[in-house]
Amino acid sequence: MPNRTQPYEVSNSVAWNKDAAKSSLVELEPNENDPAAIVVTGPCPRCHHDSAHVEPLLLFSNLGERARSSGSDLLLQALGRVAAKNSERDVEVICACGVAHPSTPDARRGCGASWVLHVSWGS
Ligand SMILES: [Zn+2]
Ligand SMILES: [Zn+2]
Repeated sequence: MPNRTQPYEVSNSVAWNKDAAKSSLVELEPNENDPAAIVVTGPCPRCHHDSAHVEPLLLFSNLGERARSSGSDLLLQALGRVAAKNSERDVEVICACGVAHPSTPDARRGCGASWVLHVSWGS
């Protein structure tokens, strides 16, 4: 049977969350004690192409936005420590494989699948 590339489709599935939890490699950058980002690599559970996702840990708070726009390093560092203490997160990963799927909209990549990984770190 020919292995045809599936068309782009925005979709998600609880089964993919489980598959991805087994097959994904999760790294905390620059280190586990004071992470600035979660880096997830591994095969997409839908199209099985290699995919990678970077989840910045500071972008999620409005305070982080304000700190960055004001250029306050001290505030950013303080927020970094708060983020590090809050040491788990459900990361939504969107397929970003390098393979061109049919019907992919402009400025998009991957197959459109998304899944959720629970990530925890520190003690
Ligand atoms: Zn793909
Ligand atoms: Zn995919």
